[in-house]
Amino acid sequence: MLIDNHNRTINYLRLAVTDRCNLRCNYCMPSEGINFAKNNKLFSIEELCKLSELVVRQGIDKIRITGGEPFVRKDLMVLLKHLSHLDGLNDISITTNATLIGPYIDELKELGIKNVNVSLDSINRETFERITRRDEYDTVHNNLIRLISEGFNVRINFIVLQNQNTQDILPILELMKHYNVSVRFLEEMPFNGGSKTFNTIEWDYKRILEHVLSKYPETEKLVSPATSTSINYKIKGHVGTFGLIPSFSRTFCGTCNRLRISATGDVITCLYGKPKTNLRDIMRSENAEENIQNELLKAIGSRAKTGFDAQKEHKSVFESSMTSIGG
Ligand code: SAM
Ligand code: SF4
Repeated sequence: MLIDNHNRTINYLRLAVTDRCNLRCNYCMPSEGINFAKNNKLFSIEELCKLSELVVRQGIDKIRITGGEPFVRKDLMVLLKHLSHLDGLNDISITTNATLIGPYIDELKELGIKNVNVSLDSINRETFERITRRDEYDTVHNNLIRLISEGFNVRINFIVLQNQNTQDILPILELMKHYNVSVRFLEEMPFNGGSKTFNTIEWDYKRILEHVLSKYPETEKLVSPATSTSINYKIKGHVGTFGLIPSFSRTFCGTCNRLRISATGDVITCLYGKPKTNLRDIMRSENAEENIQNELLKAIGSRAKTGFDAQKEHKSVFESSMTSIGG
């Protein structure tokens, strides 16, 4: 069991399988990309399988696969197949931009992997292209609808961006009205790899809620699990739900049950803090199992209490990109 120094049980791992991506979302990285890690600095699929086994033995029962874009890794299904057979792992989920998932949908279904978060920040082709800097709107839209129709548990991640996509907040709820999906509006965070300056946000979760209520006053707050990062609501007459994720306001730290491991092996115990250790070279040395498990215990034993405390580990601005952290 992994219990941190503030008595929070850590049972959820967000595992990044690559830092590369085929999109260039402007809130995530600059148009030229970032200094992507060399192949030999990334975990191999065998190493990711082994790492997953180790953490599950330590009490992790939920793994979310993220990146970069997970499906740019041609060998991703090998890992997913391995995870689907891991005793003790109750929940496997994936966060994806849905550009490349199409050919894998049937296989995901066969493996019983049904939880897919799709990042979609606009329902307008031009706005989508302006944000992602790529012409992939139709593919994403088609894959999204296919995932929903095939019965996946789909959640849409929509990052609310001042002067970019706030005009789509209400239309996306209207568009998704008849679908059993959850649309989650996230506050923008300062992890864009230097793509743009970031001071604060104009659209926090309270403003987003007010905006939604202005059109849909008949909205009911739902009861959410204690460890949920989203505050969830249901609009009268809509099949699905929507959620607000205060990722910049950080209201949820008290119940945080997450651990992040980057594609290069960094162990991140809070998005806003610095990596606590790196597991890649340990994985490639003697006594890997024992040493990795000890490193994780150490990292979890010195977690910041909140994202605001963790932020103090940085001297000035955040220089990292979400594509290396995993979101
Ligand atoms: N490529 C995949 C995708 O976009 O879904 C997975 C990796 S991406 C880094 C994971 C999540 O982080 C996505 O939902 C993305 O929108 C979100 N994200 C990236 N940069 C962000 C930022 N600066 N602030 C808030 N969320 C961000
Ligand atoms: Fe790629 Fe996801 Fe970052 Fe967009 S948010 S650039 S899709 S990693």
